[in-house]
Amino acid sequence: MAEVINNDKAIGNRLKVVFLANYRVSLAEKIIPAADLSEQISLAGTEASGTSNMKFALNGALTIGTLDGANIEIRNQVGADNFFIFGMNVDEVRQLRERGYRPGEFVEKSPLLKRAIELIRTNFFSPGEFDIFRPILDSLDSDNYMCAADFDSYAAVQEQVAELYRKPIEWQKKCLQNIAKMGYFSSDRSIQEYAEKIWDIRPCPINISNNHGYDLAASQLAQE
Ligand SMILES: *Cc1c(COP(=O)(O)O)cnc(C)c1O
Repeated sequence: MAEVINNDKAIGNRLKVVFLANYRVSLAEKIIPAADLSEQISLAGTEASGTSNMKFALNGALTIGTLDGANIEIRNQVGADNFFIFGMNVDEVRQLRERGYRPGEFVEKSPLLKRAIELIRTNFFSPGEFDIFRPILDSLDSDNYMCAADFDSYAAVQEQVAELYRKPIEWQKKCLQNIAKMGYFSSDRSIQEYAEKIWDIRPCPINISNNHGYDLAASQLAQE
């Protein structure tokens, strides 16, 4: 895909696709602070958006994301105006599944998605490797993660992202709101909350003026 997109005359130098193989912390350290937009596109209810989204937001990226996992908590903290939400919520996902999800209906309704699938199907992105993306097309038969259902909403919100990106000061204001309000996810606050609400444990007082301070404090606690 990179070969096709990076050599497209219309795209020119405006976009380059780069795949960084063997993703790991040393690469994350470079990519995350450099990112403008963090894409957290998991289907609502799959709890797939965990901590990467926090790393991006606290390093100044804006997020385009579904109402899934920690995306919800981040949006609550940074404010709905500083977060790009798209797609179905958990209730809508459940209702659609109960009704009987047929991805084909959504593809049929979406000219943009139809075109994208058509490009993949006709090997536009894989000229030298015929049908290498066939598994993607096959997966759309069941489309377990309901990509087809969320697609138009995703595309529409990407338009909003693009529009804001053309206004650097507006964009940066939202970045700053993200950075400032991500302080909530500090591990200090997080561990404190776990200690109180989930583990039901209290701090163990340590008497640092006494070499045996730890033992004393522990035996005190045992007596209590
Ligand atoms: C944070 C991180 C993860 C985990 O990301 P999640 O979004 O929580 O799944 C995995 N790999 C690397 C290199 C990371 O930095």
